[in-house]
Amino acid sequence: MQTMVEALNASAPLEKVALETYVPPAKPSLIGLSRAEIAERLAAIGVAPAQRKMRVQQLWHWIYVRGAKNFDEMTSISKEMRAQLEAHFTVARPEVAAEQISSDGTRKWLLRLPSGDSLEKAHEVECVYIPETDRGTLCVSSQVGCTLNCSFCHTGTQRLVRNLTAGEIVGQIMVARDRLNDWADRETPSGGRLVTNVVMMGMGEPLYNFDAVRDALLIVSDNEGIGISRRRITLSTSGVVPNIVRTGEEIGVMLAISLHAVRDELRNELVPLNRKYPIAELLQACRDYPGSSNARRITFEYVMLKGVNDSMEDAKLLVKMLKGIPAKINLIPFNPWPGTRYECSDWDQIERFSEYIFNAGYSSPVRTPRGRDILAACGQLKSETEKLSVRERQALRAMAMTD
Ligand code: SAH
Ligand code: SF4
Repeated sequence: MQTMVEALNASAPLEKVALETYVPPAKPSLIGLSRAEIAERLAAIGVAPAQRKMRVQQLWHWIYVRGAKNFDEMTSISKEMRAQLEAHFTVARPEVAAEQISSDGTRKWLLRLPSGDSLEKAHEVECVYIPETDRGTLCVSSQVGCTLNCSFCHTGTQRLVRNLTAGEIVGQIMVARDRLNDWADRETPSGGRLVTNVVMMGMGEPLYNFDAVRDALLIVSDNEGIGISRRRITLSTSGVVPNIVRTGEEIGVMLAISLHAVRDELRNELVPLNRKYPIAELLQACRDYPGSSNARRITFEYVMLKGVNDSMEDAKLLVKMLKGIPAKINLIPFNPWPGTRYECSDWDQIERFSEYIFNAGYSSPVRTPRGRDILAACGQLKSETEKLSVRERQALRAMAMTD
């Protein structure tokens, strides 16, 4: 007989709410537009065809190399042109609602984004900067909340959802560079930047917002602008199979897969999207991922849940099923949140699991939780204003039961 939990899992909706649409402000920001789109906007305000290409280049440099926050700073552009740009556009980034700095140097920014429904209050997303000795990684969000419902993830319990625009995604990197004083004219002893790597591992499922994520990452990796190389950008997906190969072809960044289970039955429960795209199809998409090689491995993320997916049997199956795929395995200690039914595996079990994988020839770093004191660790990102109440959660489950 099916237990209550099994019944809930079997019928839980993959997508919980309709996506809200984005309504652009009257005076739009140029951030997030491709060069061709900026040229179109310039044409629309009467910039002569012969001038457009040069203007686009100037704007691109001021916005993405120098981090200009207004047109006035763009001194290589004539005063009249600057006034004309100012009349129609901005270079606004998302508004920083709060900044928190952890005792370990991790920083978290809460960003306020407009809601499509003016009666509704603004949305919030989070973006986290993690400094390490040899790099600085920015964890970027792709959606407000997430349409998916992974059972161990705090973001997945959030009610309201909107896809971020390309500008709002690029805007997170702009905000980090602003707040860290990390633009090209900043003096550093090494001449290097602080934000050197980007991971699409914040709020949301990036492959359910494919176009905006692609457009944004092409801007972030453009070497005449922000210039973070594709090899230093990692996109993490819970397994939206049809968009995995497209990610390689159209964006060319590094891929991470939130695997978390080696059997479909368990993965259906942890990552309900598995019911649509089961493990075998997911692994086939990984085998087909363009550009993967031993030098450019696919990361398999595996959250360590006590007594759920952390047995040595699981470790063995994991090694077996990744055979033939250029892979590394990233073990993530589960970060608990209020109301979760899971616990993090014991440290000695995580070590045993990791050792087995290592001995089988895989690099298997255990991700050190960073910024725990400011709730910035993996899976903890969620805006306070949009939590589901206990009653709403019950109603959602009841709805799922009667579907
Ligand atoms: N939606 C994408 C990317 C965002 S989540 C995805 O699911 O891949 C980034 C990583 O954090 C994913 O591997 C996710 O499964 C993991 N994660 C989510 N909640 C977590 C938690 N509470 N503790 C540890 N890792 C978590
Ligand atoms: Fe969404 Fe990723 Fe959280 Fe799953 S783990 S609910 S896909 S953010």
